[in-house]
Amino acid sequence: PQQLLLYCRPGFENDLSAEVTDKAAQLGWSGYPLATPDSGFVRFMLTGDEPANALHRDLPLESLVFARQSLVALPALEGLSRDDRLTPIIEQVVASGWSFESLWQETPDTNDGKALSGLIKALTRPLESILKKRGALRRKAGGRRLHLYWTAGDCVQLGMSFPGNRSERLGGILRLRFPKNAPSRSTLKLEEAWHVFVPRDEWEMRLGEGMQAADLGAAPGGWTWQLVHQGMYVYAIDNGPMDKGLMATGQVDHLREDGFTWAPPNRLDWLVCDIVDKPIRVVEMVERWLVKRWCREAVFNLKLPMKQRWAEVARCLARLDDQLKSAGVAAEIRCHHLYHDREEVTVHVRLKA
Ligand code: SAM
Repeated sequence: PQQLLLYCRPGFENDLSAEVTDKAAQLGWSGYPLATPDSGFVRFMLTGDEPANALHRDLPLESLVFARQSLVALPALEGLSRDDRLTPIIEQVVASGWSFESLWQETPDTNDGKALSGLIKALTRPLESILKKRGALRRKAGGRRLHLYWTAGDCVQLGMSFPGNRSERLGGILRLRFPKNAPSRSTLKLEEAWHVFVPRDEWEMRLGEGMQAADLGAAPGGWTWQLVHQGMYVYAIDNGPMDKGLMATGQVDHLREDGFTWAPPNRLDWLVCDIVDKPIRVVEMVERWLVKRWCREAVFNLKLPMKQRWAEVARCLARLDDQLKSAGVAAEIRCHHLYHDREEVTVHVRLKA
């Protein structure tokens, strides 16, 4: 059957399955998810005859919370022979009639997946050369990319991605170097959020020098460090201690107040919040900020210790959307399970002028 192949953090297959099933149904598609716990991927099998390309377009990667990558896929190839893994792959590509500009080999983000990297490397050159000869790999193929997703040494699934609707990172993973001097690992969550939600050519305009931000639940200062690094002035709200080096920059005002009730002295540019609390409580607080226009953009985490993570996220996002709409506040809301997020997702809101 027609199918999509979606990557996720291992352990989040149920969440991604529930999300895709809900969203596909809302769009009028019928299908069902197939996933193994901790495998790092989900297949969504369509029950109708319509091509998976159309669903792939209807359900852009950007709109999905738990997917790291989304591909239009061919049926998985299983039980490949050790002596000749290539022939069935080449035959499937040629039979599909697809052609591509590039070829990526990937594996799930698991230990088993990582162990396949040697095998994969050895296959790249021969694959590329045969696919070129057969006309399936060529220049000017509309930016289409062929993904070979290896789930075992003898199992691979072929998928296709299109420019503008895919992650441009291998495995859908944005790896970032831990910045020297940053006070905590969490710092990478805010940095990744900006990479995901703010186009690179808008960083200067939207994250520029001299802006003002509030960081709720700031200690020890990983997120504040990112804001300061962009040249912002930061109100850091937390009862806990802030990193001394960060305070020495003179760009941080540390206030030992409650992040849920604190109000800024004037309108700010950014609100960020990494407080561990009930998701709905965080959403209510952020709503107040946005309705009062105390900030122009916000990044906050929703912590998800519960089992039904997608249901919780869906509830929170629907509420946020409803409340902003009924207050007449036009905003763009996005939410993504970042690579550096664990039991949490990151939400970005930008008010429209
Ligand atoms: N983002 C921080 C960083 O990068 O270093 C880490 C934040 S940590 C996960 C959560 C923080 O929220 C803790 O320091 C805690 O003291 C603070 N916190 C919890 N409840 C709070 C509240 N009601 N108001 C302000 N801060 C709160």
